[in-house]
Amino acid sequence: MSSISEFAPAENVEAPRVKHASSGVAAIETIDLWRIYHLGSLEVAALQGVNLRIEQGSFVALKGRSGSGKTTLLNCVGGLDQPSRGQIRIMGEEIGGWSERKLTEWRRMQVGFIFQSFGLMPSLSAYENVELILRISGVKGKERHRRSVDALDLVGLTPWMDHRPFEMSGGQQQRVAIARSLVNEPKLILADEPTGELDSNTAQEILGLFRSIVRERNMTFLMVTHDSLVDEFVDEVLILRDGQVVSTLDAQPEQTE
Ligand code: ADP
Ligand code: MG
Repeated sequence: MSSISEFAPAENVEAPRVKHASSGVAAIETIDLWRIYHLGSLEVAALQGVNLRIEQGSFVALKGRSGSGKTTLLNCVGGLDQPSRGQIRIMGEEIGGWSERKLTEWRRMQVGFIFQSFGLMPSLSAYENVELILRISGVKGKERHRRSVDALDLVGLTPWMDHRPFEMSGGQQQRVAIARSLVNEPKLILADEPTGELDSNTAQEILGLFRSIVRERNMTFLMVTHDSLVDEFVDEVLILRDGQVVSTLDAQPEQTE
């Protein structure tokens, strides 16, 4: 398996963009998606009719100002939040019709989540943090070991397996979180500002790693980001403004939080 060192930033950034056919079943499709939060008598329309289509095997960045609805959209797509109106189709299936049980099972087995704050268990080593996910999924001992070691290898952390989060840099902790999101071999990865806490060199390394993972494993990857570095790594940039996807062309220049 390849390690992160083979995907160093700069020189090999110009890897070919994959052209995705717009026919066939989309990995993610939303149709007139609304999410309205009720705060007492106040209504906040975080999503206001989002229509998007993300092809299988593509790496897509979701940008927009703070408060534009990025996290809300990601949470709805990942089944962590319920839209007020509209549809979400994953591989052509409408998830609004799924039972809580099916949704939980799908999230557990087929979706990897990565957050800005890593979300690691402080008392567990890198290996144990990754392996925990497989324990929860009921994967047997030997297989659990093999997959955990593989996932940590993929993110270049083999020498750090036995270290706990506080003994690692921010970039290394984020790699543990990435290994954890990959260990179940999900078809879809959803990441919310995964490079937000990292310096720009580390962020670039992580983005290169994401890109290579998407290519190697033919996953679909949707990433909320403020990072101006992302454009050269992803297949597509979607911009959200006031709860709607606006085309990249007529979007305002990116602003950071
Ligand atoms: P972003 O991730 O782009 O910064 P969010 O999706 O977090 O934006 O938020 C979009 C809008 O919805 C904001 O106005 C925010 O205040 C509001 N919002 C988000 N979550 C909640 C919530 N749980 N309750 C009420 N309002 C919320
Ligand atoms: Mg957010």
